Amino acid sequence: MSTPASFTPSTAFDGDDLPAELIGSDGPGKGLRHTTLLSKDARLAGRPKLCSDCGLCDSQLKPEMARACVFVRNRTEELEQRVFGRQRRDGDELRFGVFEQMHAARMRTPPPGAQWSGMVTTLGARLLETGAVEAVITAAAMPGTRFAPQPVLARTPQAVRDSAGNKPCLSPNLALLDQVREAGIKRLAVIATSCQVHMLRAVEAQLGLERLDIIGIPCSDNVTYPDLTYFLDQVSRSPQTIVHYEFMQDYSLHMRHEDGSKERLNFIDFPMDRLEGIFPSACLSCFDYPNSLADITIGYMGAELGWQWVLVRNQRGRALFELLQPELEMGQLTSGGDRNRGMPRYIGMLDQPPAKPPKPVRRLVAWLQRHRGPRGLEFARAIIEMKLLRNLHHVRSQFGRFERRIVPAHVYRSLAPYADIYRDTMGRPLSPASAETLDQ
Ligand SMILES: Cc1cc2nc3c(=O)[nH]c(=O)nc-3n(C[C@H](O)[C@H](O)[C@H](O)COP(=O)(O)OP(=O)(O)OC[C@H]3O[C@@H](n4cnc5c(N)ncnc54)[C@H](O)[C@@H]3O)c2cc1C
Ligand code: SF4
Ligand code: SF4
Repeated sequence: MSTPASFTPSTAFDGDDLPAELIGSDGPGKGLRHTTLLSKDARLAGRPKLCSDCGLCDSQLKPEMARACVFVRNRTEELEQRVFGRQRRDGDELRFGVFEQMHAARMRTPPPGAQWSGMVTTLGARLLETGAVEAVITAAAMPGTRFAPQPVLARTPQAVRDSAGNKPCLSPNLALLDQVREAGIKRLAVIATSCQVHMLRAVEAQLGLERLDIIGIPCSDNVTYPDLTYFLDQVSRSPQTIVHYEFMQDYSLHMRHEDGSKERLNFIDFPMDRLEGIFPSACLSCFDYPNSLADITIGYMGAELGWQWVLVRNQRGRALFELLQPELEMGQLTSGGDRNRGMPRYIGMLDQPPAKPPKPVRRLVAWLQRHRGPRGLEFARAIIEMKLLRNLHHVRSQFGRFERRIVPAHVYRSLAPYADIYRDTMGRPLSPASAETLDQ
């Protein structure tokens, strides 16, 4: 295995031995126009300007990068055709990706340490218990940290369970594909973010696997570990004691501390002026929030608070859901509010520098969001469309030459209802087909 010096998958670090890059940070580590992770690190040499450090380039599959990397060329449509046998239909599939079934569900007995109810790690553990797979790629916490990811090739159900909970940082999970090959593993499950799944699908045929189950988690606005610690410093009264946090459907960030106390910060109260620059340019150029190439996506944002949101995308995803179903409580999917009402204002703000409105305005906005804003599936539609708009704007303003290669066609189809507002606000057409000003 070619293991780069600065990254060793599944190698235990003592807290004291953490790489300097992982210990604290005085400010956002990256500019928006730069490569995102450990940018002085030699292992980034030869990568494209946009890189989410998915791990493929740390493996012997690096020569496939130009063909597989979503930031070199987004192949969502051709991969969807191969995996699902068809393209997205109009309506919710434009935003959520191809799916057969959609559910609100949760584990009857959530395992300890789970991010939500633990459906993802329980499913990975079950696949090992039943012998369906020989190993599961998952992201555990690097010893000595709560949130620094350490990709792990789990060979036991307990090892998967031990990886429960989000490590909300870029994680080079696909580097473990070398270990998969070296161990002669033929039946594999992978728990992964959307970009990782794109690369994995693109190299699937070369892996020589008899079976591959892909459990996707929705993903947006990921960060590097130093920038995560910086972010928590900005939003919490006690960043060192946070044991769990999540961006919730009630438009606020919920944080839980070691002593069990809870802290909540409305999205509108985020110090956006101090957060500019923490999100990697790759994540701001990412167009697959719902992880649309997985067999099954398990998140939360289309379900009501307390429930998980499940998209079963194909036959394999159905089998995965059925494996978990005896342990699940099923809920109702709901939808409320109207996302279209806030969109003109959102588009108008895309070009504005980040700012925090005065407190009375923030209070009113927080109340309106919570009581009148989109809920349930409408919340998921709203937030996905907002990220598509924001990221399209980012690509156009920072990486205009890449647009035709890295923005998939479904983005323009999803956003078509806002085409007039977009043109009037931005002074250019939404769709590149008729764009006059597109930087070629
Ligand atoms: C950066 C990030 C942003 C997310 N944003 C959203 C969102 O906006 N909306 C939404 O619905 N869901 C989002 N999710 C997914 C969601 O927070 C939960 O992870 C998911 O619902 C599974 O919950 P669970 O209780 O079933 O997971 P658990 O059983 O606790 O398992 C969590 C799994 O996540 C994997 N994991 C953790 N961190 C990483 C990482 N950095 N890279 C790859 N895999 C990782 C672990 O391997 C583990 O298997 C996000 C996840 C991440 C990592
Ligand atoms: S995102 Fe993955 S495939 Fe693309 S350059 Fe980075 S490591 Fe390589
Ligand atoms: S936001 Fe997109 S590019 Fe960034 S880690 Fe998540 S899936 Fe990958």
